[in-house]
Amino acid sequence: MATVCLTFDVDAEAGLAARLDDHRDRLSTLSEREFSVRRGVPRILELLGEHGMRGTFYVPGATAQRHPEAIRAIVDAGHEVGHHGHHHLASHTIDAAQQAAEIDDALTALRPFAGDAIGYRSPAWELTPQTAELLVARGFAFDSSLMADDRPYWLTVGDARLLELPIHWSLDDYVWFGWGEAARPTATSAWLEAWTDELASADRDRRPSTLTFHPEIIGRGYRAVGLERLLKHLAYTGADVLTHAELAARAT
Ligand SMILES: [Zn+2]
Repeated sequence: MATVCLTFDVDAEAGLAARLDDHRDRLSTLSEREFSVRRGVPRILELLGEHGMRGTFYVPGATAQRHPEAIRAIVDAGHEVGHHGHHHLASHTIDAAQQAAEIDDALTALRPFAGDAIGYRSPAWELTPQTAELLVARGFAFDSSLMADDRPYWLTVGDARLLELPIHWSLDDYVWFGWGEAARPTATSAWLEAWTDELASADRDRRPSTLTFHPEIIGRGYRAVGLERLLKHLAYTGADVLTHAELAARAT
C-alpha cells in the first residue's frame, strides 16, 4: 500500500513578476495563470473531496493576498496550506536580505489561512544554504524542494537539521504538460503510466511519494480527467494519502 502526498503549487500570477518586467501588460500570459485559482483550484477541490483525500497546497504570500477567497476555499475543505515564497522569487536569484523578506512577508500573508505555516517549498525548487538557515531560524518543520533521495531525509543546516520531503522534476506536472514555445502536448496516458509505475516502485520500496501539480496545468479539463484516473488508482490500490504535515509527523 503506497503512501502518497498530493501537492499543488498555487503560483497563479505570482511567478511571473520575477521573469517578465512587462507582465502587467501581458493579459494573455496573466490569464493563463489566473485560470489556476478561477478553474483549477475548484476542480481539484471537487475531485479530492469526492475521493475523501487531503492535499498540501503551497501558496505564495502574494497569491493569498490577491486571491483570498480561493485560498480560504482550500482551507475550508480541510487541506493543508504551505509556504511557497511571497512573490515566488527563486532563492538563488536574490540576496540573503531579499530571501528573508520573501519568507517573512509570506508568513504574514499566509497566517490567516495557515497559522504559522510549518512547511516550505522553494519557488522554482531552488533552495540556497541561506534559505535553509532562515527556515531553521523561523522554526519550519520541513522543506520540500530537494531531490537527493526519494525517501524523506535530514538536511544538515549548521548545527541544526531540517526534514526534507523530497520531490523530483519528473514527478511535476509542469514537466509533462507545461506550455512554452518549444512545448508540445503530452498524452495523458503516457504521464499516467509513468506516475503509476513510480507509485508501484514506492510501494515496493515501502517509501512515501510526493507528486507535484499546478492548478493551471492539471486543472485543464482533459488533464483533470487524468487526475481523476490517478485518484481512482490510489483509491483502488488502497494508497495512504497524507498531507505533508502528516508525513512529517510520521518521519520525526
Ligand atoms: Zn511555484
